Amino acid sequence: MPLELEGTLDPIDLTRSEMKFPGPVRFEGQATNAGKHILVTGTAQAESVLTCDRCLEEYSMPLTVELLETFYRVDEAPAKEVLDDDARPYGLDDEIDLRESIEQGFLLQLPIKLLCSEECKGLCPQCGADRNKASCQCPPQDDWGLGLLLRDLKE
Ligand SMILES: [Zn+2]
Ligand SMILES: [Zn+2]
Repeated sequence: MPLELEGTLDPIDLTRSEMKFPGPVRFEGQATNAGKHILVTGTAQAESVLTCDRCLEEYSMPLTVELLETFYRVDEAPAKEVLDDDARPYGLDDEIDLRESIEQGFLLQLPIKLLCSEECKGLCPQCGADRNKASCQCPPQDDWGLGLLLRDLKE
């Protein structure tokens, strides 16, 4: 059975910032009935809005994730050894909710450091000015860039 879904996702809390989805999240794939369980495969796509770890500006990043999920009905929980640990239950109403799978897939796509660009200069540690937009008048703290290095290490 072909699946084509479109919906919205609530912001996901990343502790230091949020991953937001201003537009629709699309999923295209298939659901295959494999006896006691249902196999869902396909691709989820969305435009996410993230907050740069360095300059705290928002930027957007397209996300694409391949999903392969196994679902079983709550009242037909199969023997543990039959399915992998990732198998998810679905309710008696026969509705399968892909939201959680898609969210997890997107989270796995994120780099450890969220940067609006590799060259992001970040905020001035002294006056807080966004150094991507304007250079401030603060004297350099040290010639070795240790301040930035240490700050990056702490993150
Ligand atoms: Zn940035
Ligand atoms: Zn400054």
